[in-house]
Amino acid sequence: MKIHEYQAKEILRKFNVAIPKGKVAFSADEALHAAEEIGGELWVVKAQIHAGGRGKGGGVKVAGSLEEVKSLAAQMLGMTLVTHQTGPEGRVVKRLLIEQGVNIEKEFYVGITLDRAISKNVVMVSTQGGVEIEKIAAESPEKIIKETIEPELGLQPFQAKKLAFALGLNGIQHKNAVKFLMGLYNAYSESDCSLAEINPLVITKEGNVIALDAKMNFDDNALFRHPDIERYRDLYEEDPLEIEASKYNLNYIKLDGNVGCMVNGAGLAMATMDIIKLAGGEPANFLDVGGGASKETVANGFKIILSDPNVKAILINIFGGIVRCDRVAQGVIDATSKIKVNIPVVVRLEGTNAEEAGVLLKGSGLNFQVASSLKDAAVKVTAVLRT
Ligand code: GDP
Ligand code: MN
Repeated sequence: MKIHEYQAKEILRKFNVAIPKGKVAFSADEALHAAEEIGGELWVVKAQIHAGGRGKGGGVKVAGSLEEVKSLAAQMLGMTLVTHQTGPEGRVVKRLLIEQGVNIEKEFYVGITLDRAISKNVVMVSTQGGVEIEKIAAESPEKIIKETIEPELGLQPFQAKKLAFALGLNGIQHKNAVKFLMGLYNAYSESDCSLAEINPLVITKEGNVIALDAKMNFDDNALFRHPDIERYRDLYEEDPLEIEASKYNLNYIKLDGNVGCMVNGAGLAMATMDIIKLAGGEPANFLDVGGGASKETVANGFKIILSDPNVKAILINIFGGIVRCDRVAQGVIDATSKIKVNIPVVVRLEGTNAEEAGVLLKGSGLNFQVASSLKDAAVKVTAVLRT
């Protein structure tokens, strides 16, 4: 799960990680009141969307007066913000973070995430802050300094010191950076994050070390331990099809390709996506209807696949174990009785009641091809897209 910057900063504050004074606003008037409450002479108006790169896209603006805060807020609310992370369709801005302006001396990068290759968390820092870290990783990876964290020990003070030295910090700045890193790691670990990224981490002219931006992603499987974090969920920012799928307990992830996949079992779903790619196609989604899927679940899954306008062909790949193939076939037929399917469907059914399923599908009037194996299915579904 992703959350907004202002929400991430609320969490960071609880872990004594330094952040600028700020307040969320849903209207221009609220923005004005927030700025008055914050005080000072310089404010920053920041669009809150679940995507980075807002600065370049016009979603982060500095205001020198209260009137300017209000007019910038009025401009920004309701605008469609396009960044390299939103895709060309962009996102409508519905919330703002009003923050105190900060006197930036230097901008750094700090990120914590799980390194899946070694099954350990890593803390990364770079002096190249405020820019796209993906670019630094690709062009000058030596500028990213990493510390691997032993899970039973957590981030050790000596590691935080090493990282602070790598950023070239001394004296009070070094001390503040160590405190910052220890606090950030605590927040990451205690909140079951999958990512905590501060870009930029800034050193102010006064020597303070603060998080100017904050991004936190969470492990969905651990959210039950954090009802307070779960409350931060903003459904408006999530894919409508994924929300629909979660209502029916379907494991659905939308992807960018055009082959809709309906599969039972996560392992088989992954293998299906792999083999579609191997055959030269691109999967439009990951969908695991689950081991004990009812025909209603299957029907809802099929409807969700069909609601994706990118889907140009569908591959149904079911191995009937606990779930019976005929039940899946009936679910598909039920769904197609309500929605017209005018794209090709390739079906591969194997296992319990596969023959009965074949009979049902043949009698359904649905336009489909039967595949004899997983490979054959992938070849057939990519072939229909080429014609
Ligand atoms: P992102 O573009 O979505 O990653 O949004 P950020 O929160 O990182 O903001 C983008 C840029 O705006 C930062 O790298 C800073 O250069 C600038 N910025 C943000 N807040 C302030 C501030 O308080 N003072 C000044 N001078 N610049 C700021
Ligand atoms: Mn940023």
